[in-house]
Amino acid sequence: MNPLKLKLHWQILIALVAGVLLAGALKRLGLGGAEPFFGFLGQLFLNGLRMLIVPLIASSIVVAIAGLGGGGLGRLGGRALGFYAASSVAAILTGLLLVNWVQPGVVGGEPAGKVLNLEANADAVAEKVGERSAGDLWGIFLRMVPANIVAAAAEGQMLGIIFFSILFGYFISRMEPSRRGTLEGFFQGMYEVMLALTRFIMLFAPIGVFGLVARVVLKTDLADLAGPLLRFSLVVLSALALHFLVTMPLVLRFVARVNPAAHYRAMAPALLTAFSTASSSATLPVTMECVQDRAGVSNRVSSFSLPLGATVNMDGTALYECVAALFIAQAYGVELGFTQQFTVVLTALLTSIGVAGIPSASFVAIAVILGAVGLPLEALGLLFVFDRILDMCRTSVNVFGDSCCAVTLAKWEGETGVLRGA
Ligand code: ASP
Repeated sequence: MNPLKLKLHWQILIALVAGVLLAGALKRLGLGGAEPFFGFLGQLFLNGLRMLIVPLIASSIVVAIAGLGGGGLGRLGGRALGFYAASSVAAILTGLLLVNWVQPGVVGGEPAGKVLNLEANADAVAEKVGERSAGDLWGIFLRMVPANIVAAAAEGQMLGIIFFSILFGYFISRMEPSRRGTLEGFFQGMYEVMLALTRFIMLFAPIGVFGLVARVVLKTDLADLAGPLLRFSLVVLSALALHFLVTMPLVLRFVARVNPAAHYRAMAPALLTAFSTASSSATLPVTMECVQDRAGVSNRVSSFSLPLGATVNMDGTALYECVAALFIAQAYGVELGFTQQFTVVLTALLTSIGVAGIPSASFVAIAVILGAVGLPLEALGLLFVFDRILDMCRTSVNVFGDSCCAVTLAKWEGETGVLRGA
């Protein structure tokens, strides 16, 4: 499908450099008037991403939950979902703490929005954020149960859509098998089409990124730009490292009661594949092989929990979404209070369920979170600058989280061969 032989991430990188060089040259020549054109290219790409949000996330959640099987959740399903939710929340909180502590979106005491040249007026943004968070914590739960699901979809009110999709998927799984097939087939088909459509839109990422970056460069000094983005990337990498090297080994040691070092060794091929492909779906076969053959988890547990995890459990992605949203808020100089941060955490948790396991899929979810707290989308383009490397790391964390769940479930199920001799 890719018209050029070059891998997409190389194309994006080249587009990025080309955007920087061209805009730099235009700036020197005093031809800054090209800015609206670059803005148009960037906006077109962002619109394309936003167009995917509702059908992609809804179908992905319905398929994952409905696929839990006829008996509904069952013990294994309940445990797996509990583990996935807890590990994602731990990852999100790690990101939240670090981003609040380091404040990468603040430069020399000033919001980085100025040096990043974010256009939206900070007061207007703050007002919009205030409106969105109108009400209190209860308001979030009220939005989770929208009175009108069609209106919620039209307004891009994702909390409601996600909640509805979870229920919808669950009740599909409770239907009589003979009648379940039609609905399952429909949503599976829709999900596959939406995945293909996402890949298609991502083919335009080089053009979109070119426009977004060129526009920023025309208006900004590059050196100013690099500082906050580097700090943002460092916060993401540190938080991912904490989750990968501290939280998960502790879970392995004290909850699963296995040797974490042996588990890293067993998972090495899957982690490297995740790192190089930046796609947890593409890595799934290798993850299955490692968990079964190298970590010694039964086929029953692994073939249930890993495909489920590859769709609904993305610790690294959830963490990244949360840090990105807070970074952007900081860059606008918008203080997010407890309720708004809670909204970010909850939306990061829920959207990570619906994110597809393909490269850069987080962007769809970050757009959702920004919308949920009322922040503009214009800063999204900046995040593309270092995205590939961050994506490789968060995908490895996503895959590792799934494998830890499989090992833990296997131990809870009383399996004795887990990580023996690994
Ligand atoms: N690339 C990630 C994955 O496949 C998803 C994302 O965070 O963009 O797991």
